[in-house]
Amino acid sequence: MRYWAYFAAKAGVAGAVLYGLLQLLDLLWPENPDLGFGPPRFVYDLPYTLAVMLWFLLCCGVGYAVVRDQRYRCRVCLRRLRMPVATGSWSRMLQFGRPRIEYICPYGHGTLKREEVQILGLETPQWDPHSNDLWEELCAASKESDHRS
Ligand SMILES: [Zn+2]
Repeated sequence: MRYWAYFAAKAGVAGAVLYGLLQLLDLLWPENPDLGFGPPRFVYDLPYTLAVMLWFLLCCGVGYAVVRDQRYRCRVCLRRLRMPVATGSWSRMLQFGRPRIEYICPYGHGTLKREEVQILGLETPQWDPHSNDLWEELCAASKESDHRS
């Protein structure tokens, strides 16, 4: 819930700033007095139309940056995920799995696993939350090693 609230707040602030930029553009760009009756400036005034196109490209870039930043944040504490580790191998795929990059929360809340090659289009990265009990995971690892020996 906190994760999505942060995303909504970030998108809202970005939208407000970009809308303010468009309003500033409208305010600073003088309307052509020859056209008097007021057709929309967007299509009939080429420099204004180009300025709005640049504003639209800026909106696309900011939207992409907002989504990308949110994708690489911890789902619990909202910190940026760190320590990317490449795992898997194409040449040893049956042994190690497909190549992917794993990011981890610096406070151990979870791991984000992103496929290195998106074969089936844009795939959603897999988030695996970690257990709150560190000792449980360590004991499980030692039990596995006991069974092997
Ligand atoms: Zn975290």
